[in-house]
Amino acid sequence: MDFRQLGLDPRVLRAVDEAGYTEPTPIQAAAIPVILSGKDLIGIAQTGTGKTAAFTLPLLTRLATGHSSPGHIRVLILAPTRELVVQIHENVRDYAQFLSLSVATVFGGVGEKPQIEALRRGADIIIATPGRLLDLMARRYGNFSGIQHLVLDEADRMLDMGFLPSIRDVVRQLPKRRQTLLFSATLSREIEAVTREFQQTPQSVEIGRRSNPAESVAQSVYEVPRHLKPALLLQLLLDPAMEMVLVFTRMKHGADRIARRLEQTGIRTATLHSNRSQNQRLRALSEFKGGVVRVLVATDIAARGIDVDGISHVVNFDFPPAPEDYVHRIGRTGRANAVGDAISLVSPDEFNDLRALERFINRALPRKRLEGFNYSAAAPAMSPDSRRESGDSGGRGGGRGGGPGRGSRGPGPATNRGPRPQGGGGNNGGNSGSNGGGGAGGGSSRGGTFRPRRFR
Ligand code: AMP
Repeated sequence: MDFRQLGLDPRVLRAVDEAGYTEPTPIQAAAIPVILSGKDLIGIAQTGTGKTAAFTLPLLTRLATGHSSPGHIRVLILAPTRELVVQIHENVRDYAQFLSLSVATVFGGVGEKPQIEALRRGADIIIATPGRLLDLMARRYGNFSGIQHLVLDEADRMLDMGFLPSIRDVVRQLPKRRQTLLFSATLSREIEAVTREFQQTPQSVEIGRRSNPAESVAQSVYEVPRHLKPALLLQLLLDPAMEMVLVFTRMKHGADRIARRLEQTGIRTATLHSNRSQNQRLRALSEFKGGVVRVLVATDIAARGIDVDGISHVVNFDFPPAPEDYVHRIGRTGRANAVGDAISLVSPDEFNDLRALERFINRALPRKRLEGFNYSAAAPAMSPDSRRESGDSGGRGGGRGGGPGRGSRGPGPATNRGPRPQGGGGNNGGNSGSNGGGGAGGGSSRGGTFRPRRFR
């Protein structure tokens, strides 16, 4: 199918050409005509399917052909996180480059003055997180009486993050006659209730089976005792094919510890989590995008909606308890027809979560083993090389078992590269955790907490 068949404004089509898109993605082909017709829409699609353009291109077409009144906001886009707001803004700016429309953003964590100014001036499009927007609306900034289109992006995540009351308060202040578009990666009962509350006889567009992670992503599982996860990650990172790696942890402190550990071994790493300031987060993202750092360690909420092209690998350092989070995480790679790898390091205490995911996606994920990695080591099994690089002489206290040759069957000292991951094929499934959690170090910790000394 050609973009030209969809009824988009010629200036929008020019921007699509500039972006280098040759044909609409399935969600775009399905959603654009519905949105152009003015109907409400529920779009079930994962991030990475092109859903931002799916709602932006037709909305820009509607704005380009309609008329604006100064000071009035015409489109309001609500998204769960600041990062997502910034990304949608970048997309909207690109797609609107041949139109004279004004766009502004509103989100927390930064000074509110410029946002207040923008609301005072009015903008054709406002992209906002619900919390800050509600705060400014409550202080009577912005004229929302002319809103014609409302977009709730990543609605499922906004609900997860507890934004429903804020969204309700915002929507209450909008005109009743408007078009409302809702996008979500999953269609839960809660989402359906929300659509009934905010939409009128919406049309649904569902792309892919809603429980099926992006097909372009090769997924694999390494079963490993929890205390060996950092060492396994380091060994995996010896593979140069892992060039742009997004690592997920459950806790922000875990993210910091892993980042420190990787940095110590000379791997450039940034972190993205809610303890970091907005500027730090934006810097981390731009360093990752620009290739300054090779690894970005993030928590789920902070990483939500990250749109970074070219992520070669997503690593679940901690396995997510919610299958939806797994789906979102792996959607960070293999975006828009690219290929990617999703690797999960799963310790015995996470096997139940893994099984729940496999039931959810209705198939078993292939198990892999890293050849030469000592899965029964009582301590981090780094190769002699990386141990020397990190200045870690196996210091686990007491000098127990830390000597050379113990805990690593990696390559000999003369070899720089570590063992490569083995091809999949479901080998060894189920037995690699035999020593799981039972290391001499006193058992593995649970729930994403780590023994700090292993990371210092
Ligand atoms: P999204 O799902 O909106 O986060 O988009 C994921 C990625 O797909 C972004 O990097 C877009 O630039 C890209 N993209 C969107 N539409 C297309 C298209 N029709 N062809 C190729 N890439 C696209």
